[in-house]
Amino acid sequence: MVRSISVLGATGSIGASTLDLIRRNRADWRVVALTANGDAAGLAKLAREFGAEVAVVADEAALPALRDGLSGTNIHAAAGASALVEAAARGADVTVAAIVGCAGLAPTMAAIEQGGVIALANKEALVSAGDVMTAAVAKHGATLLPVDSEHNAIFQCLAGNDIAHVHAITLTASGGPFRDWTLDQLERATPAEAVKHPNWSMGAKISVDSATMMNKGLEFIEAFHLFPVGVERLRIIVHPQSVVHSMVEYRDGSTLAQLGPSDMRVPIASALAWPARMHTPCAPLDLAAIGQLTFRAPDETRFPATCVARNAVIEGGAAPATMNAANEIAVAAFLDGQIGFTRIVQSVEAVLARALLPAPGCLDDVIAIDAEARVRARELMETAI
Ligand code: NDP
Repeated sequence: MVRSISVLGATGSIGASTLDLIRRNRADWRVVALTANGDAAGLAKLAREFGAEVAVVADEAALPALRDGLSGTNIHAAAGASALVEAAARGADVTVAAIVGCAGLAPTMAAIEQGGVIALANKEALVSAGDVMTAAVAKHGATLLPVDSEHNAIFQCLAGNDIAHVHAITLTASGGPFRDWTLDQLERATPAEAVKHPNWSMGAKISVDSATMMNKGLEFIEAFHLFPVGVERLRIIVHPQSVVHSMVEYRDGSTLAQLGPSDMRVPIASALAWPARMHTPCAPLDLAAIGQLTFRAPDETRFPATCVARNAVIEGGAAPATMNAANEIAVAAFLDGQIGFTRIVQSVEAVLARALLPAPGCLDDVIAIDAEARVRARELMETAI
């Protein structure tokens, strides 16, 4: 049976991995919407290849280039934030939410309102919207499937089990490229060093988040919403090889883990084919060649981000959305050479320490919290903290 699919963030790393799987199973899929931010040429190429119905760039300045790239086709070209939401609201059997940052929230919510399967990579959207998003999923009968490798692993380990029997859920973390660096070395870490992840090939923002461990902090909050076992049952462990993608421990002492190669096509395939399985071109694990799997406790002195995130989710209300927005601004400032590496998480803490807006009750509230936190974070980027 042919299924329809939209890919929000088609020109990114997750977008490319998703479309690689679609390309290999072309007859099984009809492509509805593909979106990007400013990469009009890349998006036009993909829209042509996959015969998309609509291609949307968020950046309106990129629309002429997108139209040029699509000339001679009947693919509808559009631009801007509302066009992005309209594209997502066309609905598809599966929508892959792979925009980076809270920019993906409104289109993801629009897709959720159509029901269907949402394959969620865009963790920042769930971290910011939290209960607003999960309530919309329930209200509209959508199915939220995690694409993040850790959450996809947990989802697989929970299958066929009652979550009431879960003793603990453990998210694994590679520890990023600076895992073994001293605080002094971290002070001097450069953007080029931060985006060089040892195990995964990813977009720049999530690579920096992995280096600060804020990625694991965001994932902790993501897990809190996806798997309702409570903060005290959520754990993080550093596992440098990124072979065990996460684990679920049950009350009888059994721990189930999901293992796989460090290739996002595996969790994406799991979400696309769920509840069945599909073939991927990924080489199976060669555990004898890998030899050793090691684990250690996270060091929250050198990497305080996981502690900041845990406190934000415990505080609740506007804290997670504020944390996420402040982090997005700080990561962008670091990548621009404006602030040093260790100032990323320090500035997130400083933004969180100021008075917060009340808890969000709807999408507009989340967007307002996000906007206010960005203003405060940008002010901080200009001044010493
Ligand atoms: P990339 O930076 O590679 O791609 C981001 C995509 O979002 C691009 O298509 C980009 O368009 C688009 N985009 C960027 N800004 C905006 C905006 N303001 N409005 C609309 N679209 C925008 O990111 P990744 O693919 O690495 O990550 C995407 C999401 O998936 C993130 O939330 C990340 O945390 C999550 N994730 C990623 C993993 C990975 O392995 N990469 C693993 C697990 C989760 P353009 O190309 O035009 O800039």
